[in-house]
Amino acid sequence: MTTGASLCVKCGLCLAECPTYLASSNEANSPRGRIALIRALEAKTIGPSAHLNELLGSCLLCRRCERICPSGVPFGSIMDAGRERLGRYRPLRERLAAALITRPRAMHKAMAAAGLLQRLLPGESLARQVLARRDRDAGPLRRLYPARGSKRGKVGLFTGCSGRLLDAEALQGAVKLLTRAGYDVHVPEAQVCCGALDAHGGNLRRAHALRQKNEAVFGAIEGLDALVSVASGCGAHLAGYPGMGALHKDISEFLLDASVPQRLRFRPLEERVLAHVPCTLENVLRAGDAPLELLGAIPGLEIEELGTRGGCCGAGGLTFLSHPRLSRALRRPLVGQIEQLAPRFVLTSNAGCGLHLQQGADSPEYLHPVTLLARQLMTD
Ligand code: SF4
Ligand code: SF4
Repeated sequence: MTTGASLCVKCGLCLAECPTYLASSNEANSPRGRIALIRALEAKTIGPSAHLNELLGSCLLCRRCERICPSGVPFGSIMDAGRERLGRYRPLRERLAAALITRPRAMHKAMAAAGLLQRLLPGESLARQVLARRDRDAGPLRRLYPARGSKRGKVGLFTGCSGRLLDAEALQGAVKLLTRAGYDVHVPEAQVCCGALDAHGGNLRRAHALRQKNEAVFGAIEGLDALVSVASGCGAHLAGYPGMGALHKDISEFLLDASVPQRLRFRPLEERVLAHVPCTLENVLRAGDAPLELLGAIPGLEIEELGTRGGCCGAGGLTFLSHPRLSRALRRPLVGQIEQLAPRFVLTSNAGCGLHLQQGADSPEYLHPVTLLARQLMTD
């Protein structure tokens, strides 16, 4: 039986927190209902079907239910195991998109043939924005960035399979802040995708192989103080690595623990910005306050939180591909807030959320919080 499914006491406390249940009022679209379906699938009282694909596939894996569950039900791993049992449940287009995103070389080729990217990604604007982000890439990262000033430690930087393509400036910003805070930053070239998209897509075998590769690559760096990730979606998966999860830290949390607001100085910025705390950062990594506290180091910056803390913006891994209507409905109130405030910047710790929000409201600039901090860093 899937580990942890039997911990569910069916209290129903998670229902009121689940965005897909709230959108449908259907128990089968709730955490409790989905756990019951997965248990029935395991017991073979029901079999794989298109309807079951739909019910399990519409889960955003926001893990809000896991955050509030009093019984400690590990919903994320239960859902991954359930989807594996469903086999190749994803439609072809979604499987191709997942295969491309998690293989940087293939993704580069698809980007060179922009027409292919447009066929895989819904709507011309998404493909256009992905291509625009690629064009902002400032070139490959070096394998080692030595600490500036007196050295305090050594970290490994996880770049992710598409981090360089989708948010190169955030990775460069992370390097700048970490080295200025006194850390050597190792960026091993042989690192691979974290495995989250494969795990959530029912391909646990490939997710396991990717995890082993990353654990070997980062494990070979002696004396690492932390494995730091920039995108919270990757971080949520890295934190669950059996061999290295305990070493993982989200970049904002790490910089805060390293007393960056006290040690470094930032140029003032008189702006009102919206800050989005991704569900993975709040519900899984439990570090939702970290970017907001860190941004407080920029004098003059006024920060308003976007959306409801712990809720999902609708991107939900590949939910924007598989369930575009649900995805757009969850984004709508956030877009309303962006349009009302019309900020210059929307800050989010996950590039995928930024891209999804940008589909709804294109005018602000979408940045990772460390990007803005790095831009404002005083260099003297
Ligand atoms: S998952 Fe947790 S909160 Fe939800 S019904 Fe089961 S025990 Fe209750
Ligand atoms: S992970 Fe999110 S969408 Fe999925 S069942 Fe839990 S609360 Fe609902």
